[in-house]
Parts: sequence; structure tokens; C-alpha cells
Amino acid sequence: MESLQALKQRLTEIDDLRRATAVLSWDQTTYMPPAGGTARGRQMATLSRLAHETFIDAETGRLLDLVARETESLPYDSDEASLVRVTRRRYDRDRRIPASLVSEIEENAALSYQAWTTARPANDFERMRPYLERTLDLSRRAADCSPGYDHIMDPLIDTHDHGMKASDVRQLFHALRARLEPLVQAIASRPQLDDSPLRKTIPLETQLRFGLEVIRAFGFDFTRGRQDMTRHPFMTRFAHGDVRITTRSRDNDVTDSLFSTLHECGHALYEMGFDPSFEGTPLAGGSSSGVHESQSRLWENLVGRSRGFWEHFLPRMQAIFGRDLDTVSVDAFYRAINRVERSLIRTDADEATYNLHVMLRFDLELDLLEGKLAVRDLAKAWRERFQASMGVAVPDDANGVLQDVHWYHGLIGGQFQGYTLGNILSAQFFATAVQARREIPDDIRRGSFGGLHDWLKENIYRHGSKFTPAELTKRVTGNDLSIEPYMAYLEGKYRPLYGLS
Ligand code: ZN
Repeated sequence: MESLQALKQRLTEIDDLRRATAVLSWDQTTYMPPAGGTARGRQMATLSRLAHETFIDAETGRLLDLVARETESLPYDSDEASLVRVTRRRYDRDRRIPASLVSEIEENAALSYQAWTTARPANDFERMRPYLERTLDLSRRAADCSPGYDHIMDPLIDTHDHGMKASDVRQLFHALRARLEPLVQAIASRPQLDDSPLRKTIPLETQLRFGLEVIRAFGFDFTRGRQDMTRHPFMTRFAHGDVRITTRSRDNDVTDSLFSTLHECGHALYEMGFDPSFEGTPLAGGSSSGVHESQSRLWENLVGRSRGFWEHFLPRMQAIFGRDLDTVSVDAFYRAINRVERSLIRTDADEATYNLHVMLRFDLELDLLEGKLAVRDLAKAWRERFQASMGVAVPDDANGVLQDVHWYHGLIGGQFQGYTLGNILSAQFFATAVQARREIPDDIRRGSFGGLHDWLKENIYRHGSKFTPAELTKRVTGNDLSIEPYMAYLEGKYRPLYGLS
């Protein structure tokens, strides 16, 4: 198994370069002074190019061939066979992308992000237009590196949600929309829930203290992770022993920072749960964007927005936040955090309307990539389509086309569908967990999460990226991806809340 050791050593060196890039990126979005942007973009581009060049070098292919021969009798789900399979897939894909394109993408992403941090508050879409035009061009060129696709977005989707095509996502979204829109309409016809219990201003340190207490109970390991502040919360992993999350805060909303923390903690628990022996290899990653998002949404929503969770944690929150929250009941608080409202911002959206935000972006991406929509018309198209699907007028681009970081910090296409796939899978996985461990809902009511966390570690986390999302879903739930558990969850939650029959 000398060649296996040689392959792992090579992959670890490549991984070191990639994790160093991740540290630079984390620093850029947390502590770096604004004037550092240009140099940071160049530094990240250099490291990414070096990682890419080393990975796609013929030596990687030679080692892969050797290890593949030595491990061909091993079972499909063995660590060794999985390492070869997953690495080979990435190698074949990445080899088609020239190193110069990788560094162009990385540098453009960093410069565009830096511009976006001031253009969004200034409501200045025009300033972002040249960046976005370049991003669209780079996205097309990246997709074109994979020959023979059915749709230009397919290779971009495949990078994040392997095995899915634009046509699959379209079909799935069509079916989901047909179920979601009537539910959202029915809810809108009912008297609105009161969210005034949330409208208090609590000092940031107090909010953070409570959030950290909750994720400690979830199982977040503070010897292997930490939380910092950022504009657009995210999770990033530097090593098995170093997984970072970030959160944000807002005046006049006692749960905004909390739910960001719970969400990113869900991503972090997944990454903290990979088999430690995968360290340094492509197996130390999530199965897909959709599966990753299923873990963040599971802890944020299925757990954190459940009534049982607040039976335990509302008294704790009241003890920490003090007078302002003393009088609110669990029922009133539960209603407040689950108010459904067609609103402007995706990351603030409730569980019922959230996917409508995602579908809007996905459709715009299809049109941009297909050349049906030009970047110069994007802000206008956003306003028109948002008004048509949400019934809400978009007052400015800061609350419209400029709101999400994605198009300004990467490529156009491939990322947004993962959010909705994650929502769908979160309910499918959670329903399976509760079937296997009937005590989970009672545990949550008692503030005890070990049973759920253990089930997730055993069935999902430890496998890292060994299995494709379709394989993992089948292994874990016995079924293919399905919107039924998700719709059952949403209907079961919102019908009683809004008094719908
Ligand atoms: Zn997420």
C-alpha cells in the first residue's frame, strides 16, 4: 500500500494549500481591513492556482491508477475504494479546467466581493455590473470546460450537487412550487401572527452568550471550533480540529443572531463529524451542497424552530436576556418565530416562503447562462419577477439583486438550488431519525440532543463525501429524494399555527 500512502501525502499537500486559502478567505470576511482586498485577491488566486496545478498534474493520475489497481477487490464503500472513486471524479473534472481560469475566477471573486461590501450598502448595482459581467463570462467558460452537457448549468450544478442536472432541478422545483404556493396563499388569507415578542434590543454579547450555550448543548466542540462576526454568516473548515462559524446581529430582533448561529453550527457539526482518518483527502468534505444545507436547516429549523425546543430554552433565554422577555409564553414565542410573511430578504425568510426566493434566483441564473437575460437588465428583471411571485415591491437593489453574496463572490449558477435541496432533505433525514429513535422529540423538549447528534454522526456525518447525495439519501432513508416528508412537515407545522383546516 505504498502507493496509497504516496497518494494521500500528495492529496494532503494540495489540501494544505486549499485550507490556507480558506483561512485567507475567512480573514477577508471577518477581520481584514478594507484596503487589504487587492493583495488578498492576488494571494488567494496564487494559492488556488498552485493547488489546482498540483492536483491536475499527471503524477496524481499515475498514483490514482496504481491505487485503483491495488484496491479493486475492496468493497465499494471501503475507505480506500471511496477515496479512489471520489478523487478520480474530481481529478477528471478539474483536469479540464486550465489553471489560468482557476486563478482568474479566484481573483475576480475576491475583487468582486470587496466591491460588493460597499456597493450593497450604497445601493449601487451599476458599480457591480462590470464585475458581474466578468463573473457571467467566467461561469460560462468554467461550464464549457465540461464537454457534452445538456444544459450549460449542468456542470456548475454537478460541482456542488453531484448527479443533478438543470432539468432535474427544474422538475423538482415545479412540483414543489405547485404545493408551496397554495400553502403560502392560504396562510396569507388568515390573520397574521404577532411577532412583537421578538422586537426587543438585547446587547450583542448577551445574544451571543445564549447562542453559544445552545450550540454547546447541540454538541459543537469548542476545543475544535469558534465563532466570529461577519456580514454574511458562513462555516469554514481549516482542519478536523479547526472548524469556524460566523454570525451576524441585528437590533430589534432577539433571535436573528441565534438562528444564524444554529444554522452555521449545523454545517459545523457535519464537518466535525467526518471520520478523522479522512483528514487531508477529498473524503473530508460534505456529500453535496444540498446534503450540507440539510444539516444546517435540520438544526436551525426542525430543531430550533420547534415548540419542544423552546419549552426547554425559552426559560433559559428569559434568564439570560432578563426583564424584556419575562412575560412571553412558549406558545406566543413559538408563534412569533414562525410568522410567515412574503418579505424581501432570502436569509430572513420563514420556512414557507424561503424556497420561493431560491427558485427566483435559480430561474434568473438559467436565463443569464442561456443568454436570454443580460447583466444590464438583471436588476430590473429581479424587481419585476419578485413582484410577480411574492406580491412585494422591491424598494431598492440593496434589498433586491444585491442582497446575496453568491453572484459577487464566485460563479453564477450551481449554488442556489442546494438551499432548497437542503430544505427538502432536512425533513426527510429528520423523519428517518425520529422513526429510528422515537425518543428524539422528548429529548429535544428536555434540551438533550445527544441521541439525535449520534444518529446523524453514525448515518451521515462520518461518511464525509464517500457517497453521492443520491446514494446517501437511499442508504439513510431507504428512499430517493422526495418532497413528501418536507411538505408533511410544513403542512403539519403551519396548518395549526394559522388555523387552516
Ligand atoms: Zn447554509
